[in-house]
Amino acid sequence: MLAHHAEVAWSQFLEFIQERTSSSEYENWIAPIKLLKATDQEISLEVPNIFVREYLFENYKRELINFLPKREDGEPALLFVIAEQKRQEISPEPPSFSPVQSSEQPEVKLNPWYTFDHFIEGPSNQFVKSAALGVAARVGRSYNPLFIHGGVGLGKTHLLHAIGHYVRTHHKKLRIQCITTEGFINTLVENLRNKSIDKMKHFYRSLDILLVDDIQFLQNRLNFEEEFCNTFESLINQNKQIVITSDKPPGQLKLSERMIARMEWGLVAHVEIPDLETRVAILQHKADQKGFRLPQKVAFFIAEHIYNNVRQLEGALNRLSAYSRLMGLDISEEIAQKSLGGLLQKVPSQKISVENILKSVAAIFGVRIPDICGSSRTKEIAFARQVAMYLAKELVNESLMKLGSSFGGKTHSTLLHAWKKIGNQIETDDQLKQQIQMARKNLEDV
Ligand code: ADP
Ligand code: MG
Repeated sequence: MLAHHAEVAWSQFLEFIQERTSSSEYENWIAPIKLLKATDQEISLEVPNIFVREYLFENYKRELINFLPKREDGEPALLFVIAEQKRQEISPEPPSFSPVQSSEQPEVKLNPWYTFDHFIEGPSNQFVKSAALGVAARVGRSYNPLFIHGGVGLGKTHLLHAIGHYVRTHHKKLRIQCITTEGFINTLVENLRNKSIDKMKHFYRSLDILLVDDIQFLQNRLNFEEEFCNTFESLINQNKQIVITSDKPPGQLKLSERMIARMEWGLVAHVEIPDLETRVAILQHKADQKGFRLPQKVAFFIAEHIYNNVRQLEGALNRLSAYSRLMGLDISEEIAQKSLGGLLQKVPSQKISVENILKSVAAIFGVRIPDICGSSRTKEIAFARQVAMYLAKELVNESLMKLGSSFGGKTHSTLLHAWKKIGNQIETDDQLKQQIQMARKNLEDV
């Protein structure tokens, strides 16, 4: 078979399979396979993970033999390269797996500081905290699943572990597992390698509460996603509790519709950027925890200049305390400025207010401000209102609750819905994209 023929043979094989599988199965398993090299002796394929190789041999061994070059022993002459393993080659014989990622302890220990007691509440996180507490107190009987999403360093992992601590203390008999998505994938790979997948399935399916951190890492890992989804369904069907964190809401994750729908079943809660007062309270709490006194003025100074990530606030505090200790200086605003330098952000422009956004949107869309803030459901007005809400959430450093009240008392979920909807629409609607760019430019030039 000539190289060219081997290539043709591979595409004929694909066509053959495509006609015989459902489109989702084809998309999940076959489409991600890349043909790397085809010679008359051998075909090299890149697969996203070892499952795909297993799948091929389990389901299409006969076809592989019929269509593709064979080895002397009659087995298909295929060489697999696993993309995840940085192109480390593995032996072609199924099903003996070559070493994959090193085994990693799946269990994420709960961080002892990440409890509800150490979580400072404010308008930005009240809703999500009470949802987390509700779940911890009534495992499997309140919101299921609970899906917590929000930006980096805003306390998602903290809340997840807080649920874990609470359950451990108050419901000692419940079987709990807290794991990162990476940890889940590694365990899965490890168990496949050791042929102990049934044991793993049994373990996961016997839990009472599963806490999963950073589900965004399941994106583009199709076969792991399927196993995760099965675990998920089996737990939910038995009323077992699931809590998931993510950096994006379910609808914005690149996951299957099935998975997204499952995650939207229960309650989706958003952790927002804390407002100034909450940031100050967090700083004071962390300083107490570390046993040093932080003057209120300095706390305000730091909170004003570091505003979109609580982890950074904590980092600033550590740096400031180390600096003052080493230099033997009392903590003051001046010392904060000196020691924090590059960590400090520009105080956001006060010019962009909801009022200005309303003016700009009203002008661009030809509607009246009172209509935007009113309750008219006319298509044009409702759309302009959603655009204004989108811009407010993007540009004004206020909690959703406060923003909602600037729109004539709309709820925080109305705002969030508008933000998501417009955010998605911008991706495909060029005219809207331009209108929003124009509004942004008007606002920034004020
Ligand atoms: P995420 O998982 O959202 O990236 P983390 O949960 O890791 O963020 O939080 C980052 C740091 O900020 C942690 O040290 C956490 O304790 C702290 N933190 C975040 N929000 C709060 C809060 N509301 N109160 C106290 N600490 C918080
Ligand atoms: Mg986290």
